[in-house]
Amino acid sequence: MTASKGYAAQSAERKLAPWNFERRAVGPQDVLIEIAYCGVCHTDIHLTRNEWFPGIFPMVPGHEIVGRIAAVGSAVKKFRQGDRAAVGVMVDSCRECEECRNGQEQFCSVSPVLTYNNLDKTGKPAYGGYANNIVVPEDFALHVSDKLDFAAVAPLLCAGITTYSPLRKWNVGKGHKLAVVGLGGLGHMAVKFGVAFGAEVTVLSTSPNKEAAARKLGAHHFVVTKDEAQMKAALRSFHFIIDTVAAAHDLNPYLTLLKTNGVYINVGMPAEPWQLSSFTLATGNKVVAGSGAGGLPETQEMLDFCAQHNIVSDIELINIDYINTAFDRMLKGDVLYRFVIDMASL
Ligand code: NAP
Ligand code: ZN
Repeated sequence: MTASKGYAAQSAERKLAPWNFERRAVGPQDVLIEIAYCGVCHTDIHLTRNEWFPGIFPMVPGHEIVGRIAAVGSAVKKFRQGDRAAVGVMVDSCRECEECRNGQEQFCSVSPVLTYNNLDKTGKPAYGGYANNIVVPEDFALHVSDKLDFAAVAPLLCAGITTYSPLRKWNVGKGHKLAVVGLGGLGHMAVKFGVAFGAEVTVLSTSPNKEAAARKLGAHHFVVTKDEAQMKAALRSFHFIIDTVAAAHDLNPYLTLLKTNGVYINVGMPAEPWQLSSFTLATGNKVVAGSGAGGLPETQEMLDFCAQHNIVSDIELINIDYINTAFDRMLKGDVLYRFVIDMASL
């Protein structure tokens, strides 16, 4: 077995606290990654607090993982000891179903293994990245360029790919007006990618105080969504809207901001279902689309794109014993834009 230590929630009611545990031994196809940094995704809050469904406890969250290869199995070909490596939202899949063959392992129809709060192929709980190490099959580890600020790469593994993937799928780029709803971890990456792909980007935010920071990210316009006059001025403006909001909100006012044939891409995951107005949808032939993370080939493509264009997340580096305060601050929207845990503090 591999001895590990990290921070876990022992139940949905308890705060995260230090916990020692074991991972599997490094198998022939596996790599052992010594984790350097792990990003803090809003999903970590949803799951450790049972906001979506009852979780598997103790739960070690974290699916924005970067580190160095500390050991490789006998059959490993892609990595050598000391290499940079990254792990996102999944750590295994069946590799044979249609989704896996299409590089959409996150939707494996047989046995996807998510990075945490999930059972692995032997039926044991998978533990995430708020820890000193992780064992994964080499196929589920990604390469990270040495050029990029390592800590600021971590959030690319979830916030990055989750926004890159749908913007690519819908070919968002030059000549398009794109709006980003919610300027948090996912939202700020959507702004960066939207700008990098050549779109004219507007941030739709509930927080007027984020305007200067949004413009620094490259956003061309900023709309305070609580301001009726600003919302009215933005009616029928956008070809695409990407919604990254973590809390319940009414989609219908946002849908009216789409142009005819516009596409509303949702990636945020509030627990509550929406009520959509059939009139708002029918008027202008609107499309509402979803998107979940990204598969392995596209995640590597995104990391390579980021290396080429020098894109990383804007982060606040924290010690791991700050994690419960970090959760509280995220719920208040008080972070520009992603907390990243420095695992040296463990
Ligand atoms: P985050 O950093 O907390 O950002 C969420 C943003 O939503 C906030 O910064 C805030 O932006 C806005 N917001 C919060 N409450 C709001 C409200 N009541 N009404 C309108 N806007 C509100 O969260 P995140 O890590 O980016 O994650 C966002 C969501 O995406 C979470 O639900 C997460 O679980 C989900 N997610 C989905 C996937 C996927 O595969 N689809 C992957 C990762 C995460 P403003 O201050 O600008 O309004
Ligand atoms: Zn995430």
